[in-house]
Amino acid sequence: MKGICILGATGSIGVSTLDVVARHPDKYKVIALTANTNIEVLFEQCLQHKPEYAVVVNETKAKLFQQQLENSAISDIKVLIGTDALQQVAVLQQVDSVMAAIVGAAGLLPTLAAAKAGKTVLLANKEALVMSGDIFMQAVNESGAHLLPIDSEHNAIFQCMPGGYETGTRAKQARRILLTASGGPFRDTPIHELENVTPEQAVAHPKWDMGRKISVDSATMMNKGLELIEACLLFNMSPDDIQVVIHKQSIIHSMVDYVDGSVLAQMGNPDMRTPIAHAMAWPERFDSGVEPLNIFDVRQMDFEEPDLQRFPCLRLAYQAIKDGGILPTVLNAANEVAVDAFLNEIIRFTDIARVIEKTLVQFSAEEADSLQKILQADQQSRDVANQLVEEMKR
Ligand code: NAD
Ligand code: MG
Repeated sequence: MKGICILGATGSIGVSTLDVVARHPDKYKVIALTANTNIEVLFEQCLQHKPEYAVVVNETKAKLFQQQLENSAISDIKVLIGTDALQQVAVLQQVDSVMAAIVGAAGLLPTLAAAKAGKTVLLANKEALVMSGDIFMQAVNESGAHLLPIDSEHNAIFQCMPGGYETGTRAKQARRILLTASGGPFRDTPIHELENVTPEQAVAHPKWDMGRKISVDSATMMNKGLELIEACLLFNMSPDDIQVVIHKQSIIHSMVDYVDGSVLAQMGNPDMRTPIAHAMAWPERFDSGVEPLNIFDVRQMDFEEPDLQRFPCLRLAYQAIKDGGILPTVLNAANEVAVDAFLNEIIRFTDIARVIEKTLVQFSAEEADSLQKILQADQQSRDVANQLVEEMKR
């Protein structure tokens, strides 16, 4: 029996994780669940899964949650409040696996704490890895933690790697990675119309049902940019060896090209419970609840090169990882600020890339060799990006 802590339990990945957990009560016990503000969903999850701990980051919501628990059948659950509590539950002795499913930079410290404590880290929170880069991979390496990718593409790549492969190492015979992308909702929209795209249109993803931030990232293709950086770190490959491929059917979730000419692909219906169940059962496999793929329904699979003019965010991500240092941290921070401003209708869809590009030029590729430097670069980039948002206000 393994103990699991789910950081970001109330989000899209958190909910899918609990769906998989519920199918395997003999294999997993929920030790801790965390939420930012959504105490309604957290309460239902606590009723069903009876964790030892529940963390609510927002203080006002936490007080309400405590009151609700007091008068319930699950009053013995320990409630912890605030950001520090996230790290506290991630390193509990009875926790074996930590699902890192908080969105954005807010997930960095607890995910890093889990890595340092040698936990099995199930990584959905790509922003945490992108912003901390080598520091994160080093923590994994030093503690002997297992780092298993949840992002569907990276999980697919991991599955296509040779037997016994460990993330962070370089699979010598793997020549290239083909990182697939759906292309998002605006793959075929005339470029001049992108300026007037609304948040509601941007979050309506054709293939995946996800949180709002990652949905916007998919629409700008910054999601693929972050994933490119994520892949460089997880698989120890150069960005030149990673080709982004638009594959609109989202049936192949990525591929590995080997020196002998073999190209291995992982396929399946687009449902995050597959990579989640894969990582939870690894190195074995178990049921995920996902419908079997009906290959006859697929009929056709298309593959196209991405248009970097339509998707400037992807170009910026390539540049940031090539230049290296703190620039991926800057890219991520500026993107978080810009996406938030777009979702709040402060800037236009096409301003997202502008904010990021203008933030990036204000920084040089200083070495990112300490957590302190990373957190400082993150904060400084946010200040610059916020200033730019202010100037671009529509
Ligand atoms: P979501 O918005 O649905 O959920 C986010 C979760 O994080 C919630 O539980 C929320 O309470 C928590 N959270 C938000 N801000 C917080 C803060 N400041 N402090 C503490 N907790 C906070 O997001 P999601 O779609 O589930 O995505 C989660 C992560 O997984 C993201 O990094 C995303 O890129 C990655 N991911 C998601 C998918 C997907 O299909 N949804 C696929 C691949 C990767
Ligand atoms: Mg993905």
